[in-house]
Amino acid sequence: MRRKLVAGNWKMHGSLAENEALLSGLLAGMGNVKAGVAVCVPFPYLAQVQSILANSPIAWGAQNMSQQAKGAFTGEVSASMLTDFGCAYVIVGHSERRAIYGESDELVAEKFAAVQAAGMTPILCVGETLVEREGGITESVVARQLDAVIAKCGVMSLAKSVVAYEPVWAIGTGKTASPEQAQAVHAYIRAKLRDLDATVADGLVIQYGGSVKANNAVELFGQPDIDGGLIGGAALNVEEFLAICRAA
Ligand code: PEP
Repeated sequence: MRRKLVAGNWKMHGSLAENEALLSGLLAGMGNVKAGVAVCVPFPYLAQVQSILANSPIAWGAQNMSQQAKGAFTGEVSASMLTDFGCAYVIVGHSERRAIYGESDELVAEKFAAVQAAGMTPILCVGETLVEREGGITESVVARQLDAVIAKCGVMSLAKSVVAYEPVWAIGTGKTASPEQAQAVHAYIRAKLRDLDATVADGLVIQYGGSVKANNAVELFGQPDIDGGLIGGAALNVEEFLAICRAA
């Protein structure tokens, strides 16, 4: 039985004061949440988040990481820096990183490997753009993104990862994939992996991301292959995020 996981992606939002209010609100409301919960926060706030969330039911992580271990890479952050601050998760391959910062499938696979080598869990984002969906190539895009990781790290590596299916056209747009659309891609991902290793496929947590809100989470998370969500905008609001966590 897969345990659902809801992860908040704060993106480039927050301040010391806002984070404190958000996290104390979340901690106060975690009593009736059964799902796993995590927040992926901007690097400068990791120390604050670690100190507030230590020994709590909420895990934390980062939104990106260098594939390099150390060295002359100005502006980059390494895996060991993240483990120093207790990170459990690192998002890799978010569509904003792929589109705005030109991250290739191969680079994402290198980051995935580096996250795992440091003992953290990668949340691997995959998903198609609107043009790709309308061109009927959603499955081949998602397959290509997964295959880059499988080629570098092997299918067994997915056993210690989370995959987030995030249709790019649904991220931050207020347009959510319908539960049927999302379920179809999640089922495709699981079936594709089942051909390689049934245990990995059946155990893999596959989150949905893309304008998940309190009012659509129950239906999305009720689909058989949707194991929780990666939440952007709604993760910045205590009541919305808690309602999504309860829905999971
Ligand atoms: C995201 O950025 O991963 C995301 C799903 O954003 P939003 O929930 O705001 O669409």
